Amino acid sequence: MQHDKAGRLGHNEFLGADHVSRCADAKANIFTDLSDRVWAMPELRFEELRSVEEHIAAMEAEGFRITRNVAGMRTAFMAEAGEGDVTIGFLGEFDALAGLSQVAGITEQRPLEPGANGHGCHHNLLGAASLLAAVALRDALTEAGVKARVRYYGCPAEEGGSGKTYMARAGAFDDLDAAFCWHPCVYNAVMSSSTLANVQAYFRFSGRAAHAAMSPQVGRSALDAVELMNVGINYMREHMPSEARVHYAITQTGGISPNVVQASAEGLYLVRAPRLDDARSLFDRVCRIAEGAALMTETKVEMIFDRATSNILPNRALEEAMHQTFTAIGAPKFDAADFDFADRLRAASLTDDDIRASSEAFGGPADYPKSLHDDILPLVERPGLLFGSTDVGDVSWIVPTAQCLTATAAIGTPFHTWQAVTQGKLPAAHKAMITAAKVMASSGARVIADADLRQRAKQELLERRNGAPYRSPLPEGSQPPQGAARRG
Ligand SMILES: [Zn+2]
Repeated sequence: MQHDKAGRLGHNEFLGADHVSRCADAKANIFTDLSDRVWAMPELRFEELRSVEEHIAAMEAEGFRITRNVAGMRTAFMAEAGEGDVTIGFLGEFDALAGLSQVAGITEQRPLEPGANGHGCHHNLLGAASLLAAVALRDALTEAGVKARVRYYGCPAEEGGSGKTYMARAGAFDDLDAAFCWHPCVYNAVMSSSTLANVQAYFRFSGRAAHAAMSPQVGRSALDAVELMNVGINYMREHMPSEARVHYAITQTGGISPNVVQASAEGLYLVRAPRLDDARSLFDRVCRIAEGAALMTETKVEMIFDRATSNILPNRALEEAMHQTFTAIGAPKFDAADFDFADRLRAASLTDDDIRASSEAFGGPADYPKSLHDDILPLVERPGLLFGSTDVGDVSWIVPTAQCLTATAAIGTPFHTWQAVTQGKLPAAHKAMITAAKVMASSGARVIADADLRQRAKQELLERRNGAPYRSPLPEGSQPPQGAARRG
């Protein structure tokens, strides 16, 4: 650690990993309890009202200043403490997934409430650990007598809503020196990989209904237009960047009667590419194919934008600092009961393919001898992560950003499944969550203490942006959705 404006930073006893970890341990119970409460009130994207109230109440109790309705979203907020020239941000999420209700701590699928939501991506832990990181860093700074600003971002709708992209467009991250985030996982690691940028929109066709046998010449089929649009896109696939992806769902078929010409039909298209510019130009081609389908069928097409996110710009300087910090803190210390549950879950419901998929996605050892990862993976690029997308990407274009992963679940656990939900409030998940909070808070302390690291991270971001400013992937005038009542 280097000396900075505050001479005391050179003292190892202050703001080192041990000191910050002690501050996190002192308040860990408050935030593991909060995580469990959020687990028990799973709310979908943009509707996370109760979860956000839990977050805000916890931060008010800690004396943080609260800003609600960030970027016009009722479940986006910021909590800030301290004053100073350096500002560190921690990103949190709290949204759940539909249809994943599950009893906690068992090895078979059993919904708590059939058809209800569940925390299949462990965002209950994600938000709570980022809150704990902000509080632990604030407490450590106070004890050390160091002035800096600490901010927690309550970010709605990571699952299919891209809340951070709207917050980024509103300038919420502009004054940060560094941002830290984490994601629950089956491994302990620092992420050093990009993800795909994406754009998603509905294409709604309208034609003219008619009796399909008596007066077919009068009808203009919107369903035909959706089919032709897919044909066009399938021909485009041969001529797009090999890492790009186009997915679709038919969200409205126009009805169930074959003897009626369908007057309206709709598809939802998700375009992904390694860089936002590629995703945008691919999306423009999708729009032209839609127009072509409308032309062929004499229907009209309307494009309804749904969401977009930028690719992640990795920041090696920050990731190296985070990895060193993680190594100093160590992996979560699981006990015999933690391993016993993970062993039983693996025997009951995880296949060899699941375990192989975990190791391929994250670059984990193929033959790890234990059911829970209690080591830290080396800092390498993880190309397997490329094919995901996250709205952390937009933050990473604005401010140097680093993320870690910790093992909240048994190796082989596929996320977005009941197996993830059932592990979401076990002691092992709590241990991994507290480890993530310590790693993020200690990494923030390093950035505050090390002006050279701040400078290197900023320089790297400028170089990776290649002189280009951050441009929001959102179309001009697009507004954040209010509530999951919006389809998709
Ligand atoms: Zn997630």
